[in-house]
Amino acid sequence: MTLKILYAGGDNRWPDYARPLPAAIEAAGLDAEIADDFAPGDVDYIVYAPNNDLTDFSPYTKAKAVLGLWAGVEQIVTNKTLTQPLTRMVDSGLTEGMVEWVTGHVLRHHLGMDAHIVNPDHEWRFSPPPLARHRPVTILGLGELGTACAQALAALNFPVTGWSRSQKRIDGITCLAGEDGLAEALSTAQILVLLLPQTPATENLLNATRLAELPEGAVILNPGRGPLIDDDALLAGLDSGHIGHATLDTFRVEPLPQDHRYWSHPRVTVTPHIASETRAETASEVIAENIRRSEAGEPLLFRVDRTAGY
Ligand code: NAP
Repeated sequence: MTLKILYAGGDNRWPDYARPLPAAIEAAGLDAEIADDFAPGDVDYIVYAPNNDLTDFSPYTKAKAVLGLWAGVEQIVTNKTLTQPLTRMVDSGLTEGMVEWVTGHVLRHHLGMDAHIVNPDHEWRFSPPPLARHRPVTILGLGELGTACAQALAALNFPVTGWSRSQKRIDGITCLAGEDGLAEALSTAQILVLLLPQTPATENLLNATRLAELPEGAVILNPGRGPLIDDDALLAGLDSGHIGHATLDTFRVEPLPQDHRYWSHPRVTVTPHIASETRAETASEVIAENIRRSEAGEPLLFRVDRTAGY
């Protein structure tokens, strides 16, 4: 029987998937049609991203899974009409991109590149940076992305501490968990990277109290999600100089409103949610593999825990 796969991944991305998704489905040995306009009751699988009109999943009575194209699921995880299993995207291309963004921005701050890139008075500033081995970095979130970034930074000799909900063991990384673990992870973080999901438990995690636990002059990178940070507390920390710089890729409201203080703050760099994105080639293989698994009665990869919210 030919499976019906509804593509609900946003019109503007379909050209990226038009070739690799059918190719991956075929390579997985599946007989399927892919379209964006099946009768809801006929659909077997939904390939989904939140930037489209589909918000009511109740008519999709036969659908066996909703296969997300995004790593973050905060916009769908609380949808009460969604009764089907939900998976999120873990894609080697997405991970690779995040490792590049995080490593690049850590190195920018570690090496003090700005002082040499913008030097209108041609000052001879002889200030060699310390070695990476003397620059502790902390990553909040040791999932797919946090772990890959931690390993890449550790390979450059940064002493890396990671923090997660459950205790982890990763070679070369100091792994911490729990409230005490968070205090310890923050206390040494000359550079702090946020790679947590947005859930009720992580919202405003970086509040005034926790920001005060960071060393003087700490740099924050937030490619995770905007609501992880209390914006007023961060701005106060930046104004006082306690926080040396914040490089922010994600925000409560996106695009970041033109009048937001982040745009003009001298200690803030804004990047427009470009840290990483799902890559159609590799993501199509993940989608196809999950459909194959579902049809074979095997457990889905990267299934979202609806209670934990990620
Ligand atoms: P993931 O594999 O689900 O990892 C999430 C990590 O956060 C896990 O280590 C988890 O702990 C930890 N965590 C969750 N809730 C926690 C809590 N309350 N306290 C402590 N730790 C907690 O997710 P991922 O694939 O690495 O992605 C992380 C996030 O990156 C996504 O949710 C998304 O928001 C963001 N993202 C941003 C971009 C961008 O372009 N800016 C691109 C992709 C993703 P456990 O390991 O114990 O479960």
